[in-house]
Amino acid sequence: MNRDILDSEIKFLPGVGPKRALLLQKELGITTFRDMLYTFPFRYVDRSKFYAISEIDSASTYIQLRGTIQSISLAGHEKNTRLIAIFSDGTGYIELVFFKGIKWVQEKLKVGQEYIVFGKPSVFNDRYNFVHPEVEPVANFAAGARSAMTGVYSSTEKLQNGGISNKLFTQLQTKLAELVQGKIAETLPGYFMEQKKLIPLERALHDIHFPPDPYSLDQARRRLKYEELFYLQLSLVKQKFIKMREAQGVMLPRIGEAFNYTYSHLPFPLTGAQKRVLKEIRADVTSGRQMNRLLQGDVGSGKTLVAIFSALQAIDNGYQACIMAPTEVLATQHYNGVFRYIDTNKVKVALLTGSTKTKERREIYAGLADGSIHLVFGTHALIEDKVQFANLGMAVIDEQHRFGVDQRARLWSKSEVAPHILVMTATPIPRTLAMTLYGDLDVSVIDELPPGRKPIVTSHVGENQRRRVYDFMRKEIAAGRQVFVVYPLIKESEKMDYENLEAGYLAITEEFKQPDYITAVVHGKQTPENKAFDMNLFVSGKANILVSTSVIEVGVDVPNASVMVIESAERFGLAQLHQLRGRVGRGAEKSYCILMTGYKLSKESRERIDLMCSTNDGFELAEADLKMRGPGDFEGTRQSGLALDLHIANLAKDSPMLEDARSAAIDILTDDPLLEHPRNALLARNLQNMKQDIIDYSKIS
Ligand code: ADP
Ligand code: MG
Repeated sequence: MNRDILDSEIKFLPGVGPKRALLLQKELGITTFRDMLYTFPFRYVDRSKFYAISEIDSASTYIQLRGTIQSISLAGHEKNTRLIAIFSDGTGYIELVFFKGIKWVQEKLKVGQEYIVFGKPSVFNDRYNFVHPEVEPVANFAAGARSAMTGVYSSTEKLQNGGISNKLFTQLQTKLAELVQGKIAETLPGYFMEQKKLIPLERALHDIHFPPDPYSLDQARRRLKYEELFYLQLSLVKQKFIKMREAQGVMLPRIGEAFNYTYSHLPFPLTGAQKRVLKEIRADVTSGRQMNRLLQGDVGSGKTLVAIFSALQAIDNGYQACIMAPTEVLATQHYNGVFRYIDTNKVKVALLTGSTKTKERREIYAGLADGSIHLVFGTHALIEDKVQFANLGMAVIDEQHRFGVDQRARLWSKSEVAPHILVMTATPIPRTLAMTLYGDLDVSVIDELPPGRKPIVTSHVGENQRRRVYDFMRKEIAAGRQVFVVYPLIKESEKMDYENLEAGYLAITEEFKQPDYITAVVHGKQTPENKAFDMNLFVSGKANILVSTSVIEVGVDVPNASVMVIESAERFGLAQLHQLRGRVGRGAEKSYCILMTGYKLSKESRERIDLMCSTNDGFELAEADLKMRGPGDFEGTRQSGLALDLHIANLAKDSPMLEDARSAAIDILTDDPLLEHPRNALLARNLQNMKQDIIDYSKIS
């Protein structure tokens, strides 16, 4: 068999060997030549340029200096010894620090000689220094013929300590480039590259590591990004086309008693946006095709009612419906809330969660299987194997990003017919990301809040103003309002987080003493009974304050709550902060979100907090979030099963290219839906290879 050289294990690359191979794998995930080849520089340094020491500031990344060594000395002792060279270029002095290979450095560096120093300045004791920089005598530097642009690759402390410096990494890449030359198979058809003016893959893979000039680098990047975005879209669009042709859907033409009862019992008119979305759904469920719709709507925009009306349409046509929520708290709230609107004489409703008692659970299973239960609310418990429906016609998934793709897929097998699927999310997803994450779904947006909502006033408060925050809480409580106090819960430091929460709870109960004040507490370590009890205290208005982890982040609706205090707000992402803030401002009263933080904030945290204070618009925040953090961290992307950690393209920054790639994919598939034409053979083959890496989500939602 003609093995692809790119599949060779990295240890066989000259200069690597077993020890470094292990390090490369652990630190950078590089196991093959291909992985190495696709590990691109994250920046390039123009090595014809020199910085002045006086120019160095906290924004400096990799830079190059030219100057002389003034003195060399040893500091520390025993295991701690380090060598410090004082380096000057006439504009200032800076320390070069070496912890390792001290002997070698001592021999190499000479006081009074001129050197080129390359590295990233760091701060130590309020001064800048270079730790283990590259140092080369000026004479050598001039002699080495190098491209003006040198790649800088991501590194880690372990790599540095293991001797894999940027210099060595670049040498390895050079060796690799020699070995694979002439052996990289093209992945795009010739006609397509010509049409889109893309350079060949082999050249792109060379120039991205060793760009001869900025123009070539641009071309290389463009080619690699385009390919990445194009194949992603090709796969999504192909699935969408297949679904459109194949997936039959149950017909729900009748608007009947159940729907009309609820419609006439609403205490308020539906918003224009709610009506529009219901029309879109109605068109879907009377089309004969299976509906796969994503409903995006900011927190508080009234998605629950859309879910309920969708369910009622199924019920009026003799089908069952389910509404699945990510947490027990939410599912229970949906269930309890529905009695306000539903004709329970006609529509039989049930709630199925992890804590449903065995006897009741059996009854629900039976009722779903024989069709006597029409509408069921629940959590993951709904997708357990034992649950079977007589005829599920509509499945609504609330806050869908909390569910994994495979979990959604299971809903399909619950009934003879494939139900219509409506997934709802309050995490606004920027257009470019939605196009990719949900490239195979139709999208509806509720872009209007129910009337009378007052914008939430958001402020950033430091630890030293805690007293004022307490006073403010007291004032709001005296006016009859309720207050949320939320603590972060981040997996790695779970134990510490709970300690923070406990301490916070104690402090609050100390400050807001019973019997004047009642404080409820909710977190993941409680038994379901305790959680439900405390939650209920707050929802029913008996508790003034709810202290919790971010479990209340999604969906919880307490219109009387007017203050959201978020502790250690710097530890939350933008999407999460916005979700939390959406828990207030649901009633007619003016509402407040107070972001408490420590004193020292990173630049990014400060940006996030400032942004939160400046806008209430979830879509605006989502766009900003995508730009700041990239899609990898975007809520929902990780569970999507999609390879969104793109190598080189960036969903936030490359949106014009993404749109172009999508329309190119649509054009090709419109002509040749199954990619059977010989000119598209390469596309068909690569798509097939790609599929093996991605969970097959073509059957889902
Ligand atoms: P979300 O979209 O975040 O799930 P909900 O469905 O929980 O929002 O609705 C938030 C609040 O707005 C609820 O109290 C709900 O009763 C109320 N609501 C929903 N639709 C309307 C409307 N058309 N007019 C007034 N209030 C509404
Ligand atoms: Mg909701």
